[in-house]
Amino acid sequence: MLKIKNYIGGELVDPVSGAYLDDVNPATGDVYAQVPDSDERDVEQAVQAAEAAFGEWSHTPVAQRSKVLVKVADLIEANLDKLARAECIDNGKPLSLAKALDIPRAAANFRFFATAIIHFRSELHTTDDVAINYTLRKPRGVVGIISPWNLPLYVISWKVAPALACGNTVVAKPSEVTPMTAYMLSELCREAGLPPGVLNIVHGEGAKAGDAIVRHPTVRTISFTGGTVTGREITKIASPMFKRVALELGGKNPNVIFADADQDKALRESLRSSFANQGQVCLSGSRIFVEQPVYKTFVERFVESAKNLRVGDPLEESTDQGALVSKAQFDKVRSYIDLARKEGGTILCGGDGVPDSLPDRCREGFFVAPTVIANLSVDCRVNQEEIFGPVVTVTPFETESQVVEYANATDYGLSASVWTNDLSRAHRMAEAITAGTVWINCWMIRDLSVPFGGMKNSGVGREGGEESLRFFTEPKNVCIRVPRGTS
Ligand code: NAD
Repeated sequence: MLKIKNYIGGELVDPVSGAYLDDVNPATGDVYAQVPDSDERDVEQAVQAAEAAFGEWSHTPVAQRSKVLVKVADLIEANLDKLARAECIDNGKPLSLAKALDIPRAAANFRFFATAIIHFRSELHTTDDVAINYTLRKPRGVVGIISPWNLPLYVISWKVAPALACGNTVVAKPSEVTPMTAYMLSELCREAGLPPGVLNIVHGEGAKAGDAIVRHPTVRTISFTGGTVTGREITKIASPMFKRVALELGGKNPNVIFADADQDKALRESLRSSFANQGQVCLSGSRIFVEQPVYKTFVERFVESAKNLRVGDPLEESTDQGALVSKAQFDKVRSYIDLARKEGGTILCGGDGVPDSLPDRCREGFFVAPTVIANLSVDCRVNQEEIFGPVVTVTPFETESQVVEYANATDYGLSASVWTNDLSRAHRMAEAITAGTVWINCWMIRDLSVPFGGMKNSGVGREGGEESLRFFTEPKNVCIRVPRGTS
């Protein structure tokens, strides 16, 4: 059985304890690989390697850093099929999605930040005719990166690429649930000629390896993507140590459909925003609000289309819906479907039962059919808590002000979609919704240069473009007095 290794100081190594965790294929329920069960000793080694590499990497000319990171992007592209297959097996997502989205996006992340850093400029301010100020931006040192399982290579590369481009060195911990493509990335980084210790990847559980990264005094910058509860735990440790922390957390995003919208487009994209990656996207539009005059028709058509999504073997090209990532996630999603019943909801499609379309090899896999639930109150738990599965609710609304209230009625504030052909209304809604991203007549168009992040319990800080480059650098103001006057 394949044993994944830690990547420390440029070497692929076993965990100090020699202990491993099971890596399960969620489509079959079989253990198919072993993941290092790393602890603080592995993290210590990784931090030491990162610290030792920092001096040279931070002084490596930008053009050279850029070149190596572009090479990583090239290698990801060259290995697209292999990486996509690995992501599909590790995570349960359809192969077609991994090929079209996850892996190309990981390559794009490296390429984007490898080239952005060449053009990164710092600021200059003149203080009347008294002084000039310029801002020095230096890498911050050893950066800790902790990432989730839903978009494994996509999210880790979104953080690793800008951190390295800025001249930092990194200790990263991928999710223990989906470690495979991060392991493959470590091999590609070696091949690209990334110097030893610049990127270190320590595998293992959050409470052990993740926690050790957060607590380590040398790691003064932490970029985390994951659940809101974990984000809170990290903050409790990192804040008293005055670390710089970026948190990209959960969402419970509204998807608002007005009667004047292009109904076909709204339907098509709502299917994607509801069920892409089995609804395991932080940006999923899990609360659908439909204006009363079109509610009945929209819901009928939406349910019909959801039933037609093919739940199947993630490796089959024809599959629309793969497996949920783990037994734990499967149980969690099923418990919310039960809760919806208790809260008075009507299951319009999906719910329990193994979909008929599954082949034999997937009978023990973690599959849930696309599930649409109606007749729930906006403030019930199913409409308040992040389910993170192929489960959406549908709710009618009467007026614009009412739907703004509905949209903002959770503790989250990550993203929203609004469907309307009324331009003024689109601007009003964009202004009124409390979310880091508002999509008008679209979903999940992700320009890498725009600020990305959440409001309220969906996160702290922004990533993307200059936001990332600023986050991973330390600004220093240099103020020079301009002598007035005479010769
Ligand atoms: P999670 O919080 O359970 O785990 C995320 C990472 O944190 C994993 O690597 C895990 O091992 C680690 N971790 C867990 N406990 C830790 C601790 N005490 N200290 C340090 N590290 C710890 O999240 P998940 O279940 O892997 O991912 C799903 C969540 O991620 C959802 O809530 C989803 O919305 C969120 N997410 C957010 C975004 C975003 O950009 N806002 C993107 C993707 C996923």
